[in-house]
Amino acid sequence: MTNTLSMCYNYSMKKKQSKEYWHAVYMQRKKREMARDPEGYRRRGREYARKWWASHLEEAKSMRQKYYCARREKQLLQRQEIKKEVLTFYGNGTYACVQCGESHPACLTLDHINSDGAAQRKELKLRGVSFYQWLQRKGFPVGYQTLCMNCQFKKREELKEHNAVTLQSQEQSLAGR
Ligand SMILES: [Zn+2]
Repeated sequence: MTNTLSMCYNYSMKKKQSKEYWHAVYMQRKKREMARDPEGYRRRGREYARKWWASHLEEAKSMRQKYYCARREKQLLQRQEIKKEVLTFYGNGTYACVQCGESHPACLTLDHINSDGAAQRKELKLRGVSFYQWLQRKGFPVGYQTLCMNCQFKKREELKEHNAVTLQSQEQSLAGR
């Protein structure tokens, strides 16, 4: 009698137990099934999934949207974090332009000190965050600095002037020969 009672008690306790208990039972059953007939188990799983998605079109759509949005949000945050880390390193410890101190993230970019960015982009085939990740993997190599777009444009203009002067002096020296 006591035994039956305690069994009943145990049973009801188990039933009341958290989701984890029933999940463990379910997983055990699943494992046994999988061991018995792995190919059939996978096939049944695929068929079940196909049927489920086909009969829950609206639900599936909203689920996809929900997970897509969540993933996208997470991805954007991760990208911002990566950009912040890399540009802080190349901004000598601050997330700002090394020339003028501009600190709005949208204005900040990474500058190739030797102005060989185009060639490197072509070689590595990396842009934006993938390039920042590459720098992280390489342990932050030298040759880069954090600049805001304004300072980038100024630098480009100065470089153009510099190149024009060089070209002019070359042409003069050629003419003088
Ligand atoms: Zn600047």
